[in-house]
Amino acid sequence: MSRKPIIVGNWKMNKNNAETKAFFEAVDAAAAGDTATYGIGAPFTDLQTAIANAKNLIVAAENCHFEDAGAFTGEVSVPMLEELGLKYCIIGHSERRQMFGDTNETVNKKAHRLIKAGITPILCIGETEAEFDAGQSEQVIRDELAGSLKDLAPEAVANMVIAYEPIWAIGTGKSASVEIAENCCKTVRDAVRDMFGDEAADKVRIQYGGSVKPNNVVEYMAQPDIDGALIGGASLKADSFIEIIEKTK
Ligand code: PGA
Repeated sequence: MSRKPIIVGNWKMNKNNAETKAFFEAVDAAAAGDTATYGIGAPFTDLQTAIANAKNLIVAAENCHFEDAGAFTGEVSVPMLEELGLKYCIIGHSERRQMFGDTNETVNKKAHRLIKAGITPILCIGETEAEFDAGQSEQVIRDELAGSLKDLAPEAVANMVIAYEPIWAIGTGKSASVEIAENCCKTVRDAVRDMFGDEAADKVRIQYGGSVKPNNVVEYMAQPDIDGALIGGASLKADSFIEIIEKTK
């Protein structure tokens, strides 16, 4: 089964509109071609600028709310993202789970609503350092997937992107070894197979995330169950993101 690789930057709460425009002008041409999908997850305020300047890069929101409208101060709905022509949305990032109260249940509602709108969820999961040290990675991965993917159709899961991001590797410079990353991404695929069958498991694209840089991205991507990367820090500078694109084409 050949899966098209997908590498997405996650800017988190960084960059204004002018910086977004400059980044896309510098990087977009490098992403031309059909061998892999390259894109950027950007803050809500940057999405229109990003979309207007993206010919080759795909643009993702970093979050959404699952309700369509109403008294939800500060939230952004899926129809609002749909109106921009957005095609991808990151959900369940560990920073949102740890600091903003996202749970498997709310992430599951977001996944359902995005899929209904034809927007591809990039679902983030991954264990804490304490869970890793206690040998609980597989259990955490299986529990998060069971909750976050609950009641989705197998065809919908097949078209999703799942980012395995061990929390201890995010923004720490302490990336998971290639063996750990592959084992955990394989666990993700096995869990999807158990829940949704062979076709979903063979098609779903699985990313590793956590201190991915130009100098380690190629070895992760060479692993059989790693189809891409979700990249924080190294996606902020045009030069380093271009280097990542060029090394993985
Ligand atoms: P990092 O972030 O690449 O800076 O570790 C990854 C992420 O949070 O998605």
